[in-house]
Amino acid sequence: MPEQHAAGDNIASYCTKCKLNLDHAIVAMLGETIAKVKCKTCGSVHKYKDPSSPTTARTRTKKESAGTTAKTTNWDAAIAEAKGKEVAYNMAAKFQVGDIVNHDKFGKGVVMKIYPNKCDVLFQDRERLMATGN
Ligand SMILES: [Zn+2]
Repeated sequence: MPEQHAAGDNIASYCTKCKLNLDHAIVAMLGETIAKVKCKTCGSVHKYKDPSSPTTARTRTKKESAGTTAKTTNWDAAIAEAKGKEVAYNMAAKFQVGDIVNHDKFGKGVVMKIYPNKCDVLFQDRERLMATGN
């Protein structure tokens, strides 16, 4: 059954003064459209604004590209799976695969591969070759 509106009826509308969705009374109809409403809270008469279609709708900005997201997921998984101890990074330290490295600048990383005197560490942004005492 279609809703029939008439002047004097109550209707929920967005109030331009109160900046809220409030009870309004219809003041004037324009054919089947509600032309003017009166706010029951502040008493102002203004155009009817459908409360279900907010004017403040914002489009979301994408922060990350797909590539970055994939890498972050790998890092998340690596951190979650890392069973090694968490150590502060320093060039003289000896690391093992699976250790969590805490770097001053790059943050947390996971040791992926060990080479003589260096290792591959997967940081959140990318993998880096780091010097070690191995
Ligand atoms: Zn109002």
